[in-house]
Amino acid sequence: MKSEKQKIAVFDTTLRDGEQSPGASMTPEEKLLIARQLEKLGVDVIEAGFPVSSEGDFKAVRLIAEEIRGVEIAAIARAVAPDIDRAWNALKKAFRPRIHVFISSSDIHLKHQLMKSRAEVLGQAYASVVRARTYTDNVEFSAMDATRTDREYLRDILTAALAAGATTVNVADTVGYAVPDEFGALIAYLMKNVSGIDQAVLSVHCHDDLGLATANSLAAVRNGARQVKCTINGIGERAGNAALEEVVMALRTREDFFGLRTGIRAERIYETSCLVSRIVRIPVQPNKAVVGANAFAHESGIHQDGIIKERSTYEIMTPQSVGIPASHLTLGKHSGRHAIKERLKILGYAPTAQELDRIIPLFKALADRKKCVSEDDLMAILREEALRVKDIRHLDIDKRAETAT
Ligand code: MN
Repeated sequence: MKSEKQKIAVFDTTLRDGEQSPGASMTPEEKLLIARQLEKLGVDVIEAGFPVSSEGDFKAVRLIAEEIRGVEIAAIARAVAPDIDRAWNALKKAFRPRIHVFISSSDIHLKHQLMKSRAEVLGQAYASVVRARTYTDNVEFSAMDATRTDREYLRDILTAALAAGATTVNVADTVGYAVPDEFGALIAYLMKNVSGIDQAVLSVHCHDDLGLATANSLAAVRNGARQVKCTINGIGERAGNAALEEVVMALRTREDFFGLRTGIRAERIYETSCLVSRIVRIPVQPNKAVVGANAFAHESGIHQDGIIKERSTYEIMTPQSVGIPASHLTLGKHSGRHAIKERLKILGYAPTAQELDRIIPLFKALADRKKCVSEDDLMAILREEALRVKDIRHLDIDKRAETAT
């Protein structure tokens, strides 16, 4: 038997579902910056947008399809001809394009939203994949609201999509309703009963409404799913999507349990998290797993004592493994000029000596009042200074991107 571990494909939808976070809209140029970073991070697929939804989305997908050569580029389309044609138009110059068509499969959506019968929707799913296949042999089909769908019907619609030529079928927990045991069992059932699944990839797309997106994604891979959809920092519609950094680091830290791997370069996780947070202007909560400011902060005296003696006493992964240098872990009134400059560099800014001269006294004054100065505080100081002085170079987004690499 081959001993090499099976790979889980990481399908990143930061630019599509992630952009559906309230207030997170991005320009095509901002999306391209993130796409470049995702390529460096090592994701398998970048979902670049929903081309029929707006001119901006179409442009962003086209730009990314033309520029990014090392990763598959996907565009989403409802299961109707104009959407699929528009998606292909945006994607056609991609080195490896993927059309991703979706339709709802739950009775609740069929009755109230689509107002169609199960048979009609199944026929539409089949026809949409056939149409997408006239453009490319790389077609993914998603059943929306799959976790509130009758099991046998879900089996049938995914079977139909595969018969029509889909190469990946995705089970979407669109409303974050699933719980891990049940979701794992659903995936096991589909792996057993969807005919043709052994020749295709079963994918999952989980939402975090009950805080279970990562747990559900992991339950799915335990039961045969081989693609996980996620976003950086878990951003996305409502409570967001499964966070890439959580799924990847769970698989990596507990490789002994899962026996699976991903192609992600974990040491690029932190810089990717910072870049996305900055561009979409959504701060990362301090206690966020893997990338939060406190994710590696040890406060208890007993824990600190253990960490000093041997880090593995209280750390299951190292900050360095996700790209956080040890010197960047705490900022307080004892942090020196060098530490502040280094932290700004990690955040993607390269202040000049004069800029540092202005920032540091503000930082020290704040540190005198607060025990710990967070990255958000540091960013607030920068923004206020930039407004005051107006010439600070780090408000220029392209320059930031250059310095972030
Ligand atoms: Mn979604």
